Amino acid sequence: MDEIHFLYVEDDPMSRMVMEMLLKRGLGYQNIVIFENSQNFDVRINQLTAIPHIVFLDIHMQPIDGFEMLKRLRALPDFADSRIIALTASVMNEEVDLLQTAGFDGVLSKPLDQTLFPTLLKRILLGEEVWHVV
Ligand SMILES: [Mg+2]
Repeated sequence: MDEIHFLYVEDDPMSRMVMEMLLKRGLGYQNIVIFENSQNFDVRINQLTAIPHIVFLDIHMQPIDGFEMLKRLRALPDFADSRIIALTASVMNEEVDLLQTAGFDGVLSKPLDQTLFPTLLKRILLGEEVWHVV
C-alpha cells in the first residue's frame, strides 16, 4: 500500500494541503510528489524517481493546463499504466464530457469530499473510471 506513488499538480495551496492530509495522515501513503505549477512540466516529469501510479491534475493551471499535461503524459510510454485523474472546482456536465473525450480516467471535484475520498481512491486504484462531480 505504501508502495503506491502519487503525483499531484496543483496551484492552490489549500487543495495541496487537503490532498497531502488525506493521503498521508488519512491513508498512510508517503510517496507523494507535488508540483505547484506546470512550468517545465516535461523536464520535471523526466526527473521523477518513480513513475506515479496515480496522477492528479488540476485543470486550471499555468503555463499549461490540465488538458495539455494529460496529452504530454499520454505520449510517454512509461506512463501507460498511470491513472490520470482531473481535479477541478468548476465541473459542469459539459466539462465532464470534455474530460472524458480528452482521455482522463476520471474527475474529482474540489474541494475534495474528505469522507468519500478513501472509497473513490480505492476504486481508482482498482482501475475503475471515477467521475465524481458534485
Ligand atoms: Mg488551479
